[in-house]
Amino acid sequence: MSTIRVHDKFFEPFLSASSIIEKVKSLADQVSKDYAGKKPLFIAILNGAFMFASDLFKNFSIEAEICFIKLASYKGTKSSGRVITAIGLDMDLFGRHVVIIEDIVDTGKTLNEFLPQLVHQQPESLKIVSLLYKPEAMVYPITVDYIGFTIPNKFVIGYGLDYNGLGRNNAAIYKLVE
Ligand code: 5GP
Repeated sequence: MSTIRVHDKFFEPFLSASSIIEKVKSLADQVSKDYAGKKPLFIAILNGAFMFASDLFKNFSIEAEICFIKLASYKGTKSSGRVITAIGLDMDLFGRHVVIIEDIVDTGKTLNEFLPQLVHQQPESLKIVSLLYKPEAMVYPITVDYIGFTIPNKFVIGYGLDYNGLGRNNAAIYKLVE
């Protein structure tokens, strides 16, 4: 793996494709164990989580449903704080075991704004699985129940995550060279 250029910035290798897949499999095992017999509903947050959601979902050994929702666009290298609902949620959550699939939890703002909308529908349970988690960036009180990698407060791309639209199509994750 070597440094890559996306738009005007350089990114260096951070998490290899094999370490990500290994982690995703172990998360899938853990979630499968915890949700056996519960037919959970997974809600993947687009765009960033599409690759993680796909790999995670295909490694589940239990009956489960998945749907996709688009909430926010992330511009540039700092969290913009804007939350836009572009694709609505068309599933009935009442009495369901719901698990949100996120690519990364940064300040927690996105989920902090979105979760009450889900709680309103009275799911039986509501948990969060995130591939990446930046504890140093956390501003809003969000509990991430399943975490793939805890990472420093650096801007990362790859494995579905972008920098201004590009960089999603890498099987590995890269971090910004500052
Ligand atoms: P939060 O609302 O927790 O601050 O941010 C969550 C969203 O911001 C993520 O779903 C993602 O779209 C975006 N984001 C936060 N940190 C990064 C990062 O390091 N890289 C990229 N590409 N997106 C990020």
